[in-house]
Amino acid sequence: MDNDDLTRLSAALTGRRVRVVELQTTLTACKAVGPENGGDGEMEKIRRITGWLTACGVRDMQRFDALDTRVADGIRPNLVARVPGKSARTLWIFGHTDVVPPGDSTAWSSDPWTVRQEDDRLYGRGVEDNQQAIAGMLILAEELHALRMRPRLTLGLVFMADEECGSDYGLGHLLQHADGLFSPDDLYIVPDAGSPDADRIEVAEKGQIWLQVRITGEQCHAAMPHKGRNAFLAGANMALTCHHCLHTAFPGTDPLFDPPCSTFVPSKHEANVPNINTVPGSDVFYMDCRLLPDVSPEAVLAKSRDVAREVAGRHNVNIVVNVVREQAASAISPQEPVVEALRKAVSHVYEVCARPIGIGGATVAALLRHRGFPAAVWSCLANTCHQPDEYSMISATIKDAQVFAHILMHADHA
Ligand SMILES: [Zn+2]
Repeated sequence: MDNDDLTRLSAALTGRRVRVVELQTTLTACKAVGPENGGDGEMEKIRRITGWLTACGVRDMQRFDALDTRVADGIRPNLVARVPGKSARTLWIFGHTDVVPPGDSTAWSSDPWTVRQEDDRLYGRGVEDNQQAIAGMLILAEELHALRMRPRLTLGLVFMADEECGSDYGLGHLLQHADGLFSPDDLYIVPDAGSPDADRIEVAEKGQIWLQVRITGEQCHAAMPHKGRNAFLAGANMALTCHHCLHTAFPGTDPLFDPPCSTFVPSKHEANVPNINTVPGSDVFYMDCRLLPDVSPEAVLAKSRDVAREVAGRHNVNIVVNVVREQAASAISPQEPVVEALRKAVSHVYEVCARPIGIGGATVAALLRHRGFPAAVWSCLANTCHQPDEYSMISATIKDAQVFAHILMHADHA
């Protein structure tokens, strides 16, 4: 019976191409940019999503709003919707409603907030990140309702705010206030990273530590450099030495990750003097460090400070290293039921053999894993997120939804 239901559900989803275009068009027009990026948040988008879910008979909806005076409604909305299954065990799918700004609008071939279709592709800001997931979640709920099906597992849909700026008003807030909503036995999928072939299931994320390096010397005229202490020159030396010494001090590798090593990257550099003929007396740059799970952030900070002392002595300047952001590594076992379930479903729908991988980036899966909820990150993505001419494939949206349907309907995910 379940197999027949799955076949009918999958076939129905195949017929939802026009609906995907409609959903993406409306979602994109909501311009759900967070206040840090000059936007007014996710409220309009959540209103639309709530309306669609209500229209397809979803009754069990709960809001976990975070207060934020920076947006007009004063609220960053988080919505949890559930479609009851035969079992209380739940397949949770997470989509974030916020999007990043379009960036340089001249780099776009058309208006980023107006979805443009070209064959299988939809172009627009947010269509891939993360509306492909949201559209897939919605057509799945709509088809379950249209076919009057009660799936094997309960379907849990989570629509989160604030993913692009740290999730404090999004999943971070939700997890603090949703006591008892999630169970370690449930299945957790975050469709917010993936590969064009759908063949990668992300099960591990490197730790992150962002360092600010502040060099203080003494400003002077560039014609008489010996009268000052050049903070930029010392900073350049610090960037090169730190880059070299950290790679040497933490040389471990893990083939699950690409690249397989920890990375230590001098990245942002703050403006120093506005004119060319002044030796800068202060200089600030940043290091983005991505650490394999067995590398301790404290050890990296300690080593950076050792290097700072040595370089500071050489240049007769002061160098202070501070942490501006830190996130612990997170990983689940590739043998977790959710990984097995995804592998089976992906092989069925996409006809590829998906393998577990680790990434250097950070997704909300880390927040779930740190609380003991085994989350896997998977989707079929072209990886155009945050770029001009971001696009999403209608066929991938539908197949992703079929993968979720497969897990929801099929499984003995023991
Ligand atoms: Zn995303």
